[in-house]
Amino acid sequence: MAQVSSGTSATKFQVSRVPRRVPAAERERRLANPGFGRIFTEHMVRMRWDAGRGWHDAQLTAYAPLSLDPGTSVLHYAQAVFEGLKAFRQADGGVAAFRPDAHAARFRRSARRLALPELPEETFLDAIDLLLEADHEWVPSAPEHSLYLRPMMFASEVTLAVHPADDVTFLLIASPSGPYFPSGVKPVTVWLSEDFSRAAPGGTGAAKTGGNYAGGLLAQAQAAEHGCDQVVWLDSNEHRWVEEMGGMNLCFVFGRGGDARVMTPALTGTLLGGITRDSLLTLGRDLGYETEEGRISVDEWRAGCGDGSLTEVFACGTAAVITPVAAVRSERSSWTVADGGPGEVSMRLRKALVDIQRGAAPDTHGWLHPAHVSSAR
Ligand SMILES: *Cc1c(COP(=O)(O)O)cnc(C)c1O
Repeated sequence: MAQVSSGTSATKFQVSRVPRRVPAAERERRLANPGFGRIFTEHMVRMRWDAGRGWHDAQLTAYAPLSLDPGTSVLHYAQAVFEGLKAFRQADGGVAAFRPDAHAARFRRSARRLALPELPEETFLDAIDLLLEADHEWVPSAPEHSLYLRPMMFASEVTLAVHPADDVTFLLIASPSGPYFPSGVKPVTVWLSEDFSRAAPGGTGAAKTGGNYAGGLLAQAQAAEHGCDQVVWLDSNEHRWVEEMGGMNLCFVFGRGGDARVMTPALTGTLLGGITRDSLLTLGRDLGYETEEGRISVDEWRAGCGDGSLTEVFACGTAAVITPVAAVRSERSSWTVADGGPGEVSMRLRKALVDIQRGAAPDTHGWLHPAHVSSAR
């Protein structure tokens, strides 16, 4: 049954819900152990853009495979961007997305860098509202579970010529997800990559684009060969300054208790500015910690662990929230961070963030965006 939904943006969505839903018992079975990014909900949002018409043909429709011409530009030249955000089951039974406005803004910035059209933020938010309204029953309620939302945009023009695409597709899909690390918050061992770089000045490091990930996979494989869980990226010029860990930002805690200082590498243009990073800096200040965007070299990291001034290191991102870093290895040295266990400041920050996301603590910064989940099917 098609209907036109107005939404708040200029783009009108055509709504065609699936005629037959997955039965509740089967849905609950799938939600019981969803893993991460393995199962998907019943609908998706799609939209097209071309230079003449702008954004058009917006629809909420059944989740389904795409049919792509082998000459589709993105398959060759990777002109594409994505986002990753979560919707959480609230303590009161409702559903809310976490900071979708910040993700909408970053999606625009990423698109600009990849010479893709910028999707208006209200249209991004409307797409999320529509999908959550249709598929809210797929938002899990178990602790540490959520609905992971994946907006993406790619060059769908059929051409082998290299130019910014004149035909672009936007998609939004959703994946019910359990904890990223099923065995709980488990500290990781990281590999400092000195052979490879993730991003260089003037490159695409600050944009959320798949090419950055593709270029990092070999370093990730090298990390695994050295018995490490994740790769840590250093600056491309000197391989000295710490930038990020895999697809997560890094934070360094100096000192302890009320005197702790939380430092994260500044956004120099080669790092991706995480929304978790930003949220934790804010919550860190709320909790009374000194917070700082600065820089730290590999030598300072090792020396700080040696003399005990650097007490905790953790990575942060939407998918895994906070992951403590227990040990560091490189071609030339290896060391542990404090006792290798999850630190007190890391766990306090994690709880502060998760409590807001689940509606268990007041949303003092207006980060939750409630979904309309009451409407009949
Ligand atoms: C997405 C991403 C992050 C984390 O960003 P969040 O908004 O916190 O999820 C960090 N680094 C890279 C490279 C990323 O792609």
